[in-house]
Amino acid sequence: MTSEPTVQSPTTLAEAFAALSQRDRPITILAGGTDLMVLMNAHMLHGAEFLDIWRVDELRGIDDDGDALRIGALTTYTQLIKSELIRKYAPSLVDASRTIGAIQIQNRGTIGGNIVNASPAGDSLPVLAAYDAEVEVGSARGTRRVPFNQFYTGYRRTVLEPDELVVAVRIPKLKEAERDFFWKVGTRRAQAISKTVLAIKARTDDGRIESISIGVGSVAPTVIRVPETERLLSGAKLTPEAIEAARRAIAQEIAPITDLRSTEYYRRTVTGNVLAKFLRQLVN
Ligand SMILES: Cc1cc2nc3c(=O)[nH]c(=O)nc-3n(C[C@H](O)[C@H](O)[C@H](O)COP(=O)(O)OP(=O)(O)OC[C@H]3O[C@@H](n4cnc5c(N)ncnc54)[C@H](O)[C@@H]3O)c2cc1C
Repeated sequence: MTSEPTVQSPTTLAEAFAALSQRDRPITILAGGTDLMVLMNAHMLHGAEFLDIWRVDELRGIDDDGDALRIGALTTYTQLIKSELIRKYAPSLVDASRTIGAIQIQNRGTIGGNIVNASPAGDSLPVLAAYDAEVEVGSARGTRRVPFNQFYTGYRRTVLEPDELVVAVRIPKLKEAERDFFWKVGTRRAQAISKTVLAIKARTDDGRIESISIGVGSVAPTVIRVPETERLLSGAKLTPEAIEAARRAIAQEIAPITDLRSTEYYRRTVTGNVLAKFLRQLVN
């Protein structure tokens, strides 16, 4: 006989932190449930205790915080898509959110859930990587900020301690001289797990790249940046030869595998092609 799971539903962050710090048995944080319910359905979720944070309103909201936007962990994709602040200062996060699931998933799935689920194919993650976002992590012990690009320690592993939850993510605002770009390649443009997914932020001056950051998903055990390709492009004049060199460099630098969704060869080739597509857009 299996017993019913226990669910705690705090309404304040302090209550949520207290529940996480006092526990003597593993407790699973439940946000929108769009990843967890799939596991539950497949009998792959073995926890018997849940901390349902859905009613903690302190985890909601998108705020202008000077040079950055602060996005509460429970912010859904629908809220990101509708936000004027996100459209203006992080437009590729809107583009990414539009490709995530269908409307039902966009209404319920949260950015905090996407971050902590830690799938290499999480579609918001390349944007957070390219923007050098920061993850705000909290517990009864206090809060700390972790650079997003240091949040993952390996496949599906994060720096989170068992008593911590993700409170918010802070994303530096896109500056006037910068452009960003998001492109997901799946079996379809939306409602498909990506074969490769890129987000790029760049600043150019007169056809020359001043700075560029590139986040790539589905091509390594975690979402990654590609520092060698970024170095190659920084300061480069965007000639057809430079674009071709960057296309080859990123195809070499990523570490994709062949799996059910795609092959290593396809992922290397298409990731290079998508980067080249963006670079050509920058000069036109
Ligand atoms: C049909 C379908 C289509 C989908 N399509 C896509 C897609 O196209 N692209 C994509 O990236 N994803 C997709 N997903 C996956 C999922 O919707 C997203 O990853 C979503 O963002 C998860 O958020 P959630 O709030 O539902 O997380 P939950 O399922 O509640 O939680 C996910 C994980 O994060 C942990 N967690 C959640 N919030 C916190 C927090 N604040 N602090 C600490 N831990 C936390 C949970 O304990 C759990 O381990 C899809 C899922 C389904 C079912």
